[in-house]
Amino acid sequence: MKDSTTGKPLIHGETLDSLTARLAERGEKGFRAKQILEWLYKKRAAGPDEMTNLSKPLRAWLAETFEFQPTARLLTKNSSDVTGKFLLKLGDERLIETVIIRAPQEGVGQDRSRKTVCISTQVGCAYGCKFCASGLAGWKRDLQAGEIVHQLIQVCHQEDPTTPRASEELASFDNIVVMGMGEPLANYDNLLRALSILNAEWGLNFGARRITISTSGLAPQVERLADEPMGFRLAISLHGATNEVRQQIMPVNRKYPLEQLLPAAKAFSQKHGRMITLEFILIEDINDSLDQARELAKIANDLHAHVNLIPYNTVEGLPWVRPSIPRQDAFAAILRERGVSATIRREKGHDINAACGQLRLQTEKAQGIIEPEPVKGRA
Ligand code: SAH
Ligand code: SF4
Repeated sequence: MKDSTTGKPLIHGETLDSLTARLAERGEKGFRAKQILEWLYKKRAAGPDEMTNLSKPLRAWLAETFEFQPTARLLTKNSSDVTGKFLLKLGDERLIETVIIRAPQEGVGQDRSRKTVCISTQVGCAYGCKFCASGLAGWKRDLQAGEIVHQLIQVCHQEDPTTPRASEELASFDNIVVMGMGEPLANYDNLLRALSILNAEWGLNFGARRITISTSGLAPQVERLADEPMGFRLAISLHGATNEVRQQIMPVNRKYPLEQLLPAAKAFSQKHGRMITLEFILIEDINDSLDQARELAKIANDLHAHVNLIPYNTVEGLPWVRPSIPRQDAFAAILRERGVSATIRREKGHDINAACGQLRLQTEKAQGIIEPEPVKGRA
């Protein structure tokens, strides 16, 4: 729970209970914790100096005890006005990515686009999927809860640096997807702590039903997640409809093969009474055969799951190729003929999202050139 450079715990990783307990040790009244969290999430204070209804000694103690700026914005990159991707520097100089996706909603007009934030949960990833930039450089470390939460504070700042209420700014987003760098369920406790802060009324007050966790298929953790009281949505990165095809590109399939993963996914969807999503990257001659489509249709029908087809996004240094559009359509047609609800991600802006991890990889090569930009408080 500590910042790796200052050694201090991160204030954005504290819950109402944990902060109340810390303050009680100092003999502070119970309502102080709520006041502090209100400053952080409702008034977007950048540090204790702005918390003007707290005594000076309490503000000094907060500054001494906690880290308030666990991430700094390094670089913002936009793709065709649809996607904004930014690179954040952590206390130990490591880099992560956070993405904002603005997808126009069909039939609603340009002014009401669907806004989604994509957040990271680890630096790098240990699972080594053969098509993924995040897995290329291996796993470096887990993110702390406060580093996960602070990505959303950065997003609110990016969207509108002047709106005082971070929770209101975040409310303008339709969804949060945990699909950035890392395997979220391999950092289970920090993830759940962060999501409970995002979800809490005293925190960012963002509904659990609008939060989707994407996993490469850690079956035991999927079962554990099914028992959590907060009803998050689940997406499974399937990418292969048989063990044979799946384990060629996803080493995790050897540990948790389909006969273990699919029942866990089914248990999740039955407990929550809600459709899960199967993500399926289409890679030419690897998993895009019509046989794979037929097998995928069986799985999706059995799980009553939605299928999201993602044409492979090129990663520098990897040999894979995206199938042609007619081939993608033929694959989708097989699913639809069999009654499966399936979409193909074609929007330009999604390219940059689908290959989370790439911006970090490129920037690490050129590091040292860009200076960090701290998050400022209100003007
Ligand atoms: N580790 C989790 C979440 C992060 S990956 C998971 O694997 O689900 C988020 C999504 O991006 C996954 O569906 C992943 O398979 C996909 N992805 C990774 N590399 C990609 C690429 N080159 N093209 C398209 N999608 C990719
Ligand atoms: Fe890790 Fe997900 Fe990338 Fe696989 S797809 S290497 S699990 S981030």
